[in-house]
Amino acid sequence: MNIELLKQLSEADAIAASEQEVRQILLEHARRYQLKVEFDRLGSVLIRLNESTGPKVMLCAHMDEVGFMVRNITKEGAVEVIPIGNVRQLARFMQPVRITTADGRKQHGLLDADLSGSEAQNMRVDIGASSAQEVADAGVRIGDRVTFATSFQKLAGESRVMGKAFDDRIGCWLLIELMHALQQQPLACEVWLVASSSEEVGMRGGKTAAQRINPDLALVLDTANWSKNFDFSAANHRQIGQGPMLVMYDKSLLPSPRLLGLIQDTAAEQRIPLQSDMFSNGGTDGGTIHLTGQGVPTAVIGVPTRHGHCAASIADMNDLYHARQLLLALVGRIDSDIFQQLTDFSC
Ligand SMILES: [Zn+2]
Repeated sequence: MNIELLKQLSEADAIAASEQEVRQILLEHARRYQLKVEFDRLGSVLIRLNESTGPKVMLCAHMDEVGFMVRNITKEGAVEVIPIGNVRQLARFMQPVRITTADGRKQHGLLDADLSGSEAQNMRVDIGASSAQEVADAGVRIGDRVTFATSFQKLAGESRVMGKAFDDRIGCWLLIELMHALQQQPLACEVWLVASSSEEVGMRGGKTAAQRINPDLALVLDTANWSKNFDFSAANHRQIGQGPMLVMYDKSLLPSPRLLGLIQDTAAEQRIPLQSDMFSNGGTDGGTIHLTGQGVPTAVIGVPTRHGHCAASIADMNDLYHARQLLLALVGRIDSDIFQQLTDFSC
């Protein structure tokens, strides 16, 4: 189980449209196998795993995390920021963060805000400066990106881990793991591993990447957490350690029942635990990917986490392992006949 890779991905900093640190990790792995790499014009990475005349399958995870951007520097040396993506309100107060400067330096500071009702206002980072000149000397400029400064940790117990940006570096981890695992495997479909740009600000890179690839079928790999972390009742379909989640519904995508059935059957055959989830808020890249061309049968497979859109999430490596196993089995069985069955609406 490649925990080191998850640590590397988690500690890379990438808000929407500034995903070079994560892109770099993906490209290093693709280069190792001399795979064909393309890009859309937003910066999404499109890695072709194999050539095939079978259906084109797009596996997509987003590179960006929620964070902040420098919007102003006061004469007293406060670095004012705006959120990029939906950072939880409580995660906007008293948080260690780091600013990535244009020349690649990391400047650490403490994010804080004023409380207005239940909302954060006037968010600013204290980097220890006392004047705008000191901030400028540190290389910090308006437009620089800001991320939580969270170190990856292994927790008590064999398989639990904590880190930032698990949404969606866990998906990126799955893409790289699939790249390794599928290298020598003969496949009856053509697999494209896509790391998309700018999902957290409105599902952008998944759309443009799909327009470039024009896939026949898509699987989106993302994460979700339950609002009550210690609710272990049957209502919580996002429990860590209980297996990956199959998203039956979200506001941007109603997956084909046939495709959901294929995934459920495959999980049952492989004895992989699967939680049946629904998103009442938000969506994933699947929301835009499935509207490409004539429509693309698309499903979302998620890895559950505790806590989300904040400084750290907690995950269980067994869920990552099971998601990987499920995806390998699915990709191994998708061929022209299955694609035909999924999309034949004549009867
Ligand atoms: Zn996500």
